[in-house]
Amino acid sequence: MAIVKEAAGAVVKEVAAHGEWRMKCPKCTQEMDLYEKDTSSGRDMRTYVCRPCKEYVDVDNGVALWQVLHDANDKAREKGSG
Ligand SMILES: [Zn+2]
Repeated sequence: MAIVKEAAGAVVKEVAAHGEWRMKCPKCTQEMDLYEKDTSSGRDMRTYVCRPCKEYVDVDNGVALWQVLHDANDKAREKGSG
């Protein structure tokens, strides 16, 4: 399991076994709920909310995973396996 500590706000990101990000509230360290997800730009942008604190955190995970997989698929097809 990878753990990344952000410089700003000491928000802790954890990658669970199934590949989803888990956000922990910088105030109370409770696991945050996914509030909004936007991959329309090909980037994995998410907003998480801690309901007790009403704390919102925006996360940019960069290029969305499905986009990477899609590109990899296209490249595999270009090579042509017959
Ligand atoms: Zn909180």
